This record gives sequence, C-alpha cells and structure tokens, in this order.
Amino acid sequence: MASTYSAIKCPNCSRTAIEDDYYKTGELFICCDRCGYNYSKVIEHETMETINYKEEIIGGHGVFMVIKKSSGRELILLDGELNANQIEEFTKVFLESEVEQENSYLIYFEGGAFTILLGNPPEGFLLPFEESQEKEIKETIYFSV
Ligand SMILES: [Zn+2]
Repeated sequence: MASTYSAIKCPNCSRTAIEDDYYKTGELFICCDRCGYNYSKVIEHETMETINYKEEIIGGHGVFMVIKKSSGRELILLDGELNANQIEEFTKVFLESEVEQENSYLIYFEGGAFTILLGNPPEGFLLPFEESQEKEIKETIYFSV
C-alpha cells in the first residue's frame, strides 16, 4: 500500500509527530511519541459510491518509554489522568534490572504542559516542532492503557 511517511507538528502537543498518509485510500495515521497522541482514520465500509471512515483518537496524556537492555523499546501511551496506583506500577517497571533507567522515562502531559515523573527524556525531546531537527524515525512497539 502506498503511503507517505513524514514528520509533522503534533495536533495535541505541538511537538514532532509522525504522519503516515495512505493517500490512495484516504486512510491516515498520526502518532506522537512525545505526548502519546495516536490518531487513526481507517475505512470502515466501502461501496462503489461511498467510503465510510472510522476515526479514533487514543492517548495524548503522556508516555512511558521503557528501554530494555535485551529486548528493545516499548512505548505505553497514557490515555487519561495518571492515578497513584499507575505511578506505583510504572515506578516498579522502571526500577526492574532489565530496564535502562538512564534512557527510559515517564512523562505526563496535561493542559499543554509536560511533567517528567521518572527518568530523563532524550535531549531536545520537548522542543517545539519548528525547532526540532529530529527527523529520524525509530521502530517502536505501541501499547495503550
Ligand atoms: Zn504530541
């Protein structure tokens, strides 16, 4: 399937997001690994005359990036307010010996502001899209909570 893959300004946090545009079918995916905003527009029903799309937005309240010594990266998208139990759970995961604490991070996004709760995001991570030079796209597994 033909698509264009590009860095765009995130509609949720104004940082850098990735857009995957299937211009032939009209399907569209946006994923932001800063605030965890995840938008999808996919074909739900198609006839000769009309195409019905289904739109879905998940995440947008921050991310928990877990980088493991052996098995790569996992990104958990935060879908709403963080409660004390979740923070405790994430802290437990963060402190596991498998996890690279120096590269993993938990960031909460609410009301236009980022709060770093655990770890250290990469340099330039929270720069606005216009100032960000980062165009590199890394492969990541996405989860939602
Ligand atoms: Zn974003």
